[in-house]
Amino acid sequence: MNKLLTLVVPVMNEEDAIFPFLQAIDQAICVPDITLEILFIDDGSTDGTLQSLQAASAADSRVRWLKLSRNFGKEAAMTAGLDAAKGDAVVPMDVDLQDPPELINEFVRRWRDDGYHVVYGVRSSRDEDTRHKRTSANLFYRLFNRISQTPIPDNAGDYRLLDREVVEAMKRLPERNRFMKGLFAWMGYRSVGVPYARPSRQIGTSKFNFWKLWNFALDGVVGFSTLPLRVWSYVGGGIAFLAFIYIIVIVAKALIFGRDTPGYASVMSAVLFFGGMQLLSIGILGEYVARLFVEVKRRPLYLIESSSSKSQASPLQEGEPEKQTQPDGTGR
Ligand code: UDP
Ligand code: MG
Repeated sequence: MNKLLTLVVPVMNEEDAIFPFLQAIDQAICVPDITLEILFIDDGSTDGTLQSLQAASAADSRVRWLKLSRNFGKEAAMTAGLDAAKGDAVVPMDVDLQDPPELINEFVRRWRDDGYHVVYGVRSSRDEDTRHKRTSANLFYRLFNRISQTPIPDNAGDYRLLDREVVEAMKRLPERNRFMKGLFAWMGYRSVGVPYARPSRQIGTSKFNFWKLWNFALDGVVGFSTLPLRVWSYVGGGIAFLAFIYIIVIVAKALIFGRDTPGYASVMSAVLFFGGMQLLSIGILGEYVARLFVEVKRRPLYLIESSSSKSQASPLQEGEPEKQTQPDGTGR
């Protein structure tokens, strides 16, 4: 039976990468009884990406595009793509050919023939990354898997095939903070990994800098673990206990040896230490409160400014239309 497969491709300032991407797809994908739909999400590009997309969709009827009203970030762009995808299965992938298109053949085989709901690519090496990125990524996954209840498989990225059922489940997750890898892990389903070597970027430059990656990691940890929040009761308890012992020591010393005035160093270190601890714990509290704030506002995750189906600038469309008719009747 013929199945529709949607490739969801977020793009930001990738005018030169779009045609090579389409070409590579055509060369690489050869599976019978699969119709392709290629859905680009323009994540607030400021170069000629939109023109490239318009040209591509005019030339090729399988190509559709959505343009977000500004740069919402890759995770939001991917969410927009998953919401709009029509396929029986969906593959989110990067436009820069770092996700080798040949792998889709294997993805489809495991999905269609072996009945897996999720087939994810596992990077067999990270040789093409800088050493710095490799160590920081390793550190992050180790930390994440230690403190999160739902571990992420090692070296699994966003490149994966999702069955329609999983996409629908994904759409029902209400949170604004979309740390996709974590959400996939949380959802479960019958999953299997397929190893692949990730090549380095072919065209253009990486759109992630240190700060973006740091915030991404922070979103991941804070979104999937409450440990940073809870740890302070233990730290506080421990310190209170030590302070109590110290008080006894001071009082005893004063009683036995008489008054002992010089104490600048110890007082100062205590003040500085506690001051630092308090600021740190308030900061972590702030991270969670800030996220609560974002969730409570319930703003849409993204706004669509225009799309290939109605190329004329249409009135702004809200992110998740189906959210209004949740089966649980909450009418969010
Ligand atoms: N991207 C996006 N919005 C952003 C940043 C990136 O849509 O704010 C897209 C980008 O165009 C590319 C994909 O996400 O298709 C992966 O980005 P990149 O290759 O720069 O990331 P890296 O491979 O360096 O992690
Ligand atoms: Mg890349």
